Amino acid sequence: MRFSSTRDGSLRASLSEALRRGLAPDGGLYVPERFPEYVPADFDGRATLADVGSRLLAPFFEGDRLEADLPAVATEAFDFPAPVRRLERAADRVSVLELFHGPTAAFKDFGARFLAACLAREPHEPGRPLSILVATSGDTGGAVAAAFHRRPWARVIVLFPEGLVSPRQQQQLTCWGDNVRALAVRGTFDECQRLVKEAFADPGLMTRFELSSANSINIGRLLPQTAYYAMASLQAWWEEGEGPSFIVPSGNLGNVLACIWARRMGLPIGEIRLAHNANPTVPEFLAGGDWRPRPSVPTLASAMDVGNPSNMERLRALHPDWRELAAEVRAQSVSDEEIRLRIREDYLELGETWCPHTATAAEVYRRLPREERARRWILVATAHPAKFNEIVEPLIGSAVPVPPALAELLELPSAYEDIAPDLGAMKAALGLE
Ligand SMILES: *Cc1c(COP(=O)(O)O)cnc(C)c1O
Repeated sequence: MRFSSTRDGSLRASLSEALRRGLAPDGGLYVPERFPEYVPADFDGRATLADVGSRLLAPFFEGDRLEADLPAVATEAFDFPAPVRRLERAADRVSVLELFHGPTAAFKDFGARFLAACLAREPHEPGRPLSILVATSGDTGGAVAAAFHRRPWARVIVLFPEGLVSPRQQQQLTCWGDNVRALAVRGTFDECQRLVKEAFADPGLMTRFELSSANSINIGRLLPQTAYYAMASLQAWWEEGEGPSFIVPSGNLGNVLACIWARRMGLPIGEIRLAHNANPTVPEFLAGGDWRPRPSVPTLASAMDVGNPSNMERLRALHPDWRELAAEVRAQSVSDEEIRLRIREDYLELGETWCPHTATAAEVYRRLPREERARRWILVATAHPAKFNEIVEPLIGSAVPVPPALAELLELPSAYEDIAPDLGAMKAALGLE
């Protein structure tokens, strides 16, 4: 399979090339030239996420030099579970897909680990490490740093918005050392993302360094995310004969795009709903408004503070007419006040503890009219609540137990530098001038 740019469709790359480059040479994003089509029976006998993922992703690897490596990549990357857990105390049939059992306790571990496992199997020039630039709104940077830490062929530069990530997220961004550098940018996530794009457009940098991106602009982060939607939907299909509908907390649209792609490939997925925080770019657009990217506003669900989601370009490549897109998915905004209320209420009524991002999905679920609740809904839990203890604990009045992997990272020393939000400052901090 080849991958083409969302801008100039004649710019094509193999999977390996697309993984290494991150961004297409014209600044567009790589998308698959076509999608394979499956029926549930194609996955009979495949019981683990790695098994399902290997089958699902095989056509994308076909003809690439990584083709034979796919099963090993899937086994290495998907070595922690993505369980679907029923909310026992809820009145209707609703479950939660827990995507936070990886090393940094957020769903981004799946994509970051898969990308790293792919790149590890690529040829590397000794002494010329692959430089992975990653802008993060909080969780991506930690997941990427964890996945690439101490891989001798890579160095990682994490850009995060100073003061706009949770204390525990910041610790996960800055605790690595070795081949990982963390830069606190005096600006927003959108500015971090812009810096990455500018670095890629800088001919001097590109010729001196092999730069790659591990943001969800990299196709290697998106493809593996389709695996957990496939697995969760197949399980529901096998057990109940009904494909589930998903509510996905969304920011840069990478997670929900994987869900949309999985449905496009024939996986038994019903409705797809996007839960956004108070950043209204996507909900407004899907409600028939203009596409109006704008600076992001800070919210409690900070990993979703995105005012100009890059993956919109991929969604629009799939559906150039917005009406078609609006027929495919719906999106709603959730305010900070509603996030707080949802965390408090669901703790009391259901005994569930949500992170602020997952709470947006729980809120969108609560807003469903009664007849729609009869469907089989799955709320996507994107992070463990212990990552956001300073928000969650005062709301529920009790301590959130810390998963062991996270507890280990919290013990490490941390280091970072802060920079102005411009390319010159970034180059200077990295000694690239
Ligand atoms: C990144 C992130 C999101 C948003 O995912 P996108 O792929 O950017 O839409 C939601 N929740 C958490 C916890 C995240 O880290």
